[in-house]
Amino acid sequence: MDLDLAMKHGKDQGGGGCIAAQRFDGYKLGFDGYNTYLCGMTKKEVLVQVDKGLMLPLMEEFYTIQGEGFHKGTAAYFIRLGGCDVGCHWCDVKESWNADTHPPTDIEQIVQHAAKYSDTIVITGGEPLTWDMGPLTSSLKSHNLLTHIETSGAYTLTGEWDWICLSPKKNKLPEGPIYDKAHELKVIVYNKHDLIFAEEQAAQVNANCILYLQPEWSVRDKVIPMIVDYVMQNPKWKVSLQTHKYLNIP
Ligand code: SF4
Repeated sequence: MDLDLAMKHGKDQGGGGCIAAQRFDGYKLGFDGYNTYLCGMTKKEVLVQVDKGLMLPLMEEFYTIQGEGFHKGTAAYFIRLGGCDVGCHWCDVKESWNADTHPPTDIEQIVQHAAKYSDTIVITGGEPLTWDMGPLTSSLKSHNLLTHIETSGAYTLTGEWDWICLSPKKNKLPEGPIYDKAHELKVIVYNKHDLIFAEEQAAQVNANCILYLQPEWSVRDKVIPMIVDYVMQNPKWKVSLQTHKYLNIP
């Protein structure tokens, strides 16, 4: 990992940051990276903290407008965590996949920074449920912040959430209980078969779950007409667009 990038979060947080590692390659697979850690922690100590959800691989964090789904148009602070093995071929954040390239960061530092910007915090990734979301969401709630998650549901749901956006993926289907708790179901449409997949997933969510079809950005011109026709014929669905990309914001 680029050292400057790894250090970026600490600098952005007013110099009070406490990034665990200058470089943290292989922290799940044996710590092949640097031995020198800020905070004076050993690799083993960091690993324990990550396993407990007290430190998380922070890829980026930013204050912006939620562009998608039910809360589109709402200002929110985004925390993007590294780590995802779902492997969507059209994924637009592939750099998030390898958690080893994102510095494990103390959750209290993450929360304190987020609280300065917004009362609505969106946890995204990567796949956030790779990690134990309990401590992070507990801390966010203790600061009276609203907790939103964007997840494929591929792993066990942890954490305390005010809003769950479930965006299931074909190659790693959600674990059962999240279907009962999801507030919105957002199916990314890359081709026609995704509409069949969308119906299969909609059949499993709770009755109050809001249903969205969202064009995959790279094929939007091709699939938007198909989605529009489908939603008009099946009005239980709504269209979701990645409006932040149209607005040219993060
Ligand atoms: S689940 Fe999300 S982060 Fe993971 S590969 Fe798919 S689109 Fe990318």
